Amino acid sequence: MAEMFEYYAGWCDKITGDVIPVPSTHLNYTRHEPLGVVSQITPWNAPLFTCCWQVAPAICAGNGVMIKPSELTPLSSIVVGILCEKAGAPTGLVNVIAGDGPGSGQAMIETPATALVVFVGSAEAGAKIAGAAARRLVPSVLELGGKSANIVFGDADLDRAVTGAQAAIFASCGQSCVAGSRLLVHRSVHAQMVEKLSFAAGNIPVGAPMDPATQIGPVNNLRQWSKIDEMVREAVSQGAEITSGGAKPAALAASGGFFFAPTVVDQVTPQMTIANEEVFGPVVSVLPFDTEEEAIALANATPYGLAGAVWTQDVGRAHRMAAQVRAGTFWVNSYKTINVMSPFGGFGRSGYGRSSGREALAAYTQTKSVWVETAANPAQGFGYAPG
Ligand code: NAD
Repeated sequence: MAEMFEYYAGWCDKITGDVIPVPSTHLNYTRHEPLGVVSQITPWNAPLFTCCWQVAPAICAGNGVMIKPSELTPLSSIVVGILCEKAGAPTGLVNVIAGDGPGSGQAMIETPATALVVFVGSAEAGAKIAGAAARRLVPSVLELGGKSANIVFGDADLDRAVTGAQAAIFASCGQSCVAGSRLLVHRSVHAQMVEKLSFAAGNIPVGAPMDPATQIGPVNNLRQWSKIDEMVREAVSQGAEITSGGAKPAALAASGGFFFAPTVVDQVTPQMTIANEEVFGPVVSVLPFDTEEEAIALANATPYGLAGAVWTQDVGRAHRMAAQVRAGTFWVNSYKTINVMSPFGGFGRSGYGRSSGREALAAYTQTKSVWVETAANPAQGFGYAPG
């Protein structure tokens, strides 16, 4: 999080315009000006990350910020607001508003001062928020959910692919927008991949978050736990097969925590709900494929387009997949690597606009074109004789 502020602090004195060689006697140059007040609304799954991720570029470009974290996770953003003041930011530059979406969130969008709405959250809420902003002719940046495809070819290093598949779906207990929730596996290695991944999933230590031995803690709230449980049960009723997990771990049955075991669901078909909708939990759906074309078609079969990955030793295939999978971020023989220096955002139902990197500055500034006449006796269309 500190790196995000350090990175954008480095941009503050590098937001420069251009001098454009227009074919006239004018000097024409551009200025990238702040928008004014930016309203930011963030989700519960990565509250500190999403707060710093959006506040840093906004203030670097000269804007003031109103940020509303999720009503489920307000504390870390409040601390960021306090730290900004302690670091010397003028009072009122970063304002943290605790409250719910339809109440506080809507009020922020409708406040006349709001000149840009930046939303990180679900596609459903994103559509409502962008609609409310558009009614005021205020632009928005939307960072929404995903149903990302993690694609394993027959020539992949399977052990590395298994490690990558775990990081893709089980990190943050699957409560991650870029989660590799669909594992597309070439039929030649399908059985092997499912066996290795199911074994690995069954051995991940699930437990209390403060226990250093824990790798997966509970999900954030009961509603989320129930949604995960419901989607897994529905997939089974539609013919899918659980090869690991699938419920609260037996060892934690007596605990009141919202634990869900790392789950591998095999024999998923593209028509099933679990292959199309975000589970937002530690649940990976496995779908086999036979050809590269089929893998691309499956990867692009949902309206989302947030992220994707391919595991292969064939460099040509890696680049073909990178070009053809519809996603804002794509990894080759890796998963989940992101950095504030590199642009991040979605295609399709995963949103629009870019956060991170130099590209985020485009959203947080507006361009002014300035024309200065330099001719002593400029030619004008209309004459004017004083007196
Ligand atoms: P959510 O959409 O329910 O809520 C997100 C935020 O929007 C909260 O602060 C909430 O209070 C507010 N909100 C909800 N309805 C609103 C309304 N009508 N008007 C104004 N504000 C409203 O999402 P969530 O459940 O908190 O978070 C999980 C979702 O976020 C997942 O879909 C996940 O994929 C997505 N997400 C995306 C990214 C990304 O960068 N693309 C990053 C993290 C999370």
